[in-house]
Amino acid sequence: MSDSRMALLIDYEYCTGCHSCETACKVELGLPLGQYGIKVATYGPAQIPGTDKWDYINVPIPTALCDLCENRVKDGKLPTCVHHCQSACMEYGTVEELAAKMAGKSKMVLFTPK
Ligand code: SF4
Ligand code: SF4
Repeated sequence: MSDSRMALLIDYEYCTGCHSCETACKVELGLPLGQYGIKVATYGPAQIPGTDKWDYINVPIPTALCDLCENRVKDGKLPTCVHHCQSACMEYGTVEELAAKMAGKSKMVLFTPK
C-alpha cells in the first residue's frame, strides 16, 4: 500500500551527534532556550560486552514542535535540518520512497512527525 505522508529518514550509522540539525531547527522555528523541534539522543560510548567493539549511537528525534518545515517546503526548499546536516544523513520525502531506501540498509529510522 502506498503512503504519501511526508517523513524524515535518518541514517544514524553516519550521524556524528554534531547538533547542527538542532540548531538550524531552533532558528527556523524561533525557539527559546530549552525548546527543540528536533533533539539528538545519544547512547555510549559503551563497550559491547565480550568484544573489543564500542557502541556510540546518535539519533536526532523530532519533537511535537516539528512542523516538517512547512514554510520552507511550500517554497520548494528542503527542511532546514536536512539542509544543514553535516553528514548528509537526513533525507526528506514520502514514507513510501524513504521506506524503499531502508530496504537492505541497517541503522536507519523513519519519522513521521505529523
Ligand atoms: S523538519 Fe524542520 S521543524 Fe522538523 S525537525 Fe527538521 S528543521 Fe525542525
Ligand atoms: S546534523 Fe546530521 S550528523 Fe549532525 S546531529 Fe543532526 S543528523 Fe546527526
